[in-house]
Amino acid sequence: MDAPKVRITMALAGNPNAGKTTLFNKLTGARQHVGNYPGITVDYKEGHFERGGREILLTDLPGTYSLTAYSVEELVARDYLVNEKPQVVINIVDASNLERNLYLTCQFLELGVPMIIALNMIDVAKDRGIEVNAGQLEALLGVPVVPIIARSGFGTDALIDRAVAVAEDKRIWQPLDISYGEDLDGTVMTLMAEIHRQSFLTDTYPSRFTAIKYLEHDDQIMARGRVVDQAVAARVEAQADLVSDHLRKTMGVFPEAIIADHRYGFIKSIIRQGVQTRTFDTDRLYASDKIDKVVTDRLLGPLIMLAVLFGLYQFTFSWSELPVHWLDSLFGWLSGLIDGALPEGLFKSMIISGAVHGVGGVLGFVPLIMFMFFGIAILEDSGYLARVAFMMDRIFRIFGLHGSSVMPFIISGGIAGGCAVPGVLATRTLRSPKERLATLLTVPFMNCGAKLPVLALLIGAFFSEDKARYMFLFTVVSWLVALLSAKLFRSTVLKGDPTPFVMELPPYRLPTLPGLLIHTWERTWQYIKKAGTVILGISILLWAMMTFPRLSPDQVAVFDQQRLNLETQHHANTETASQERKSIDDAQAEEALRNSMAGTLGTAMEPVSRYAGFDWRTNIALIGGFAAKEVIVSTLGTAYSMGKVESRESAPLATRLQQDPHWNRWVAIAALIFIMFYSPCLVTVICIAREASWKWAVFSMLYNTVFAFILATACYQMPRLLSLI
Ligand code: GDP
Ligand code: MG
Repeated sequence: MDAPKVRITMALAGNPNAGKTTLFNKLTGARQHVGNYPGITVDYKEGHFERGGREILLTDLPGTYSLTAYSVEELVARDYLVNEKPQVVINIVDASNLERNLYLTCQFLELGVPMIIALNMIDVAKDRGIEVNAGQLEALLGVPVVPIIARSGFGTDALIDRAVAVAEDKRIWQPLDISYGEDLDGTVMTLMAEIHRQSFLTDTYPSRFTAIKYLEHDDQIMARGRVVDQAVAARVEAQADLVSDHLRKTMGVFPEAIIADHRYGFIKSIIRQGVQTRTFDTDRLYASDKIDKVVTDRLLGPLIMLAVLFGLYQFTFSWSELPVHWLDSLFGWLSGLIDGALPEGLFKSMIISGAVHGVGGVLGFVPLIMFMFFGIAILEDSGYLARVAFMMDRIFRIFGLHGSSVMPFIISGGIAGGCAVPGVLATRTLRSPKERLATLLTVPFMNCGAKLPVLALLIGAFFSEDKARYMFLFTVVSWLVALLSAKLFRSTVLKGDPTPFVMELPPYRLPTLPGLLIHTWERTWQYIKKAGTVILGISILLWAMMTFPRLSPDQVAVFDQQRLNLETQHHANTETASQERKSIDDAQAEEALRNSMAGTLGTAMEPVSRYAGFDWRTNIALIGGFAAKEVIVSTLGTAYSMGKVESRESAPLATRLQQDPHWNRWVAIAALIFIMFYSPCLVTVICIAREASWKWAVFSMLYNTVFAFILATACYQMPRLLSLI
């Protein structure tokens, strides 16, 4: 017999009792006994058959539930797949036990084997009242799915035709990556980069698979890694151990548990999205599912979500009020102390105006930041944040964004206190370039941790009676603006079809107190470190810009002359005289600030900025805010302490703003709106450039600033037009 020209190798893999042997016999016609207890095929069997002029070599692998290194069957199956590299793997999935069977499927996806799913036992499923939508499963997994009944042979022809197509054209197979949550995804990415760079085990396993196996502490792969490259293996192991220790400390779990949780979450969400429908209800609901029935309910869910958000702000502002006040007094006392200890001069001005009033203003909000992070840690560690993402997906779709856009928004500060830089990086989970761009251009609108002190300052100064409600309001506004912008992008420059979405819902966990405290402290410490380094540096730089060039001797002479006149006109010791002397001092200080580099710039912008209600001092702060948004607070602190000599010692910035005739509620609203939406900070812009292109980075700076200015102007002018003030 002549051998046909084309040979295709296929492997059958799946859970025990999924019907592999039955299908194998049906296809190859081999006479064998079919047993229904697991383990009958510990060694794999081979057979062959012909199809459309091709010879197909088929291998029946041992049945397994997973691809760990814990059992011989699992090792045999996975070694066969990576060593023999069959052209396509037929993954038999028992449709009547979909959830458990897809667990193995997830791992095949990660192993990167070209795959097709044989959705077996649809007859059994039907009898149990379960209907599985193969088309929807195919769309969500990115892998062909063919329904079959192995025992009768129904669907097997179609299965083999599509398996041949996958073997001959790998493009048909476009699987998804599963996300393992914020704690692990970053590490997986770092490990992958290292593994890829060193070509470490890459001829056997895909780098993502190796990275995950190291996190799962897979003995076989780690042993193999040490043989291949001792040095790289040690590095990768050390990094994986680091994460492992961290997780155990913060959440009391091993990475394996988190990985398994996310796989089940991934599967659950797939099944929920119209893949499986029950014609009658047989299964009991698990605790998580029961909670989710209420918490992610279409009507109740969003209401609960808003209540949780409001509760978080209420908690944050009320609990932090006292400690924030203490810190304010502490910094007031400190600057008084320095004022007395140092001689008048440039150095003293730099320490008090640049360092203490600049960085102090930012550090003063540490208690508030800490309470906010604590609240967010509870939401995150319990698993509620994932539900928020799940619910937001429905809303996001309306605005042309993807379900995977939700996490980047939350990371960027959707609830408050994130950062747009990791937010922009997190958009990498989006596959459609247009949805990704729309997301990374709008995440900077969220209220990141750096905007938080600005919000706290202005809300505290002008809306002190109802802080939580205003914080809530500004958060909702930030979401609205981000979503509407996304819609605008998606219906103009970034037009395109939506792509399917799979959301992972890990089971709820009771957060542990040490875990919450560690999460809170890590983020708070980051905030403090940034204030003590970057913000301090920029504060001093801005202080210098607000100090130099100094007034010329001629200009100083004018004020000296005024003082001299005062002396000769009045008796030097009267009350009016000392007050006039102070106002001359103030005028000189203001003239000096105006005359400085920053003052000149701020003044030059005033003709435009005054439409939105910003004076030259605010302009200086806004320019500084481009370097980092916390700088807005520190610069206002510096500008208002340099421009006014008399109040230097005591009053906190909030009080000084309240007393300034230039500021009022409407100016505060306009300023907040502008600050929330104008150009992303420098680091974010660089990040956008790297993730997209410089063209989009520049677009983001210009678009956001113009857009923010229009909004701020509208906010400031509206009450004037409506003659409210
Ligand atoms: P394996 O462990 O994956 O090799 O599974 P088997 O091929 O041994 O099948 C386990 C049991 O399921 C056997 O009793 C088969 O007859 C039965 N079976 C396999 N496929 C089907 C199917 O599509 N429908 C029904 N009703 N039974 C099936
Ligand atoms: Mg079998």
